[in-house]
Amino acid sequence: MRKQTRPPKPEILEQHGERWSRQWAELRAKNPSAGFQWYQAEGQTARDWCLPALKEMTQGHCAFCDAFPLEDRSKEPIEHFKPKSEPRFYADAFAWDNLYYCCERCQGSKGERWDDNLLRPDAADYSFERYFVFDYTTGEMKANPCAIPADQARAEITIRMYGLDTPQRRRCRSLELRQWQRSDERVLDDWAYRDFLDAGDDWKPEQQSVTF
Ligand SMILES: [Zn+2]
Repeated sequence: MRKQTRPPKPEILEQHGERWSRQWAELRAKNPSAGFQWYQAEGQTARDWCLPALKEMTQGHCAFCDAFPLEDRSKEPIEHFKPKSEPRFYADAFAWDNLYYCCERCQGSKGERWDDNLLRPDAADYSFERYFVFDYTTGEMKANPCAIPADQARAEITIRMYGLDTPQRRRCRSLELRQWQRSDERVLDDWAYRDFLDAGDDWKPEQQSVTF
């Protein structure tokens, strides 16, 4: 989960965000099973108004696992961090700091769950090293064993909810690192799992007795 800086709130959310969130809350009050929709302004949905700035925030990568690219694979690339289906979070449905560019795999893993300890990649005090470590022999991502217990607990819940350390994730990270090391195309933003590649650059798989 790479550190991010959130761009300024899009003007359209400034103008309509609170009203849209209220509209969503009213709709759900009348019909608790009503499906979510991105309301429109000036001929475009709120989703399409927000996407450019959210993608800019992550350079087009998933905000949580750093997968790249997402565009063609993801039908709904915006994650509501605080779930929009929960009445206590209806007011955040169109809140700028509640929206993240996010892959289907991370969204599918987290679903509509919530935990107050989840980490935000754009929090001012967030850094990967504070909370997490990688194991380059396996692709594993785990809580930093040197972190204070409260930070370790936050890292663990974030890994679990977004599915950041499944066997598939480990394989994807390891494969990407091997390709990165062999490639001449070394523009980091064009690759998935940038933190893993960045810090794992000097790691030599041939020195290990691990097969992928
Ligand atoms: Zn993801």
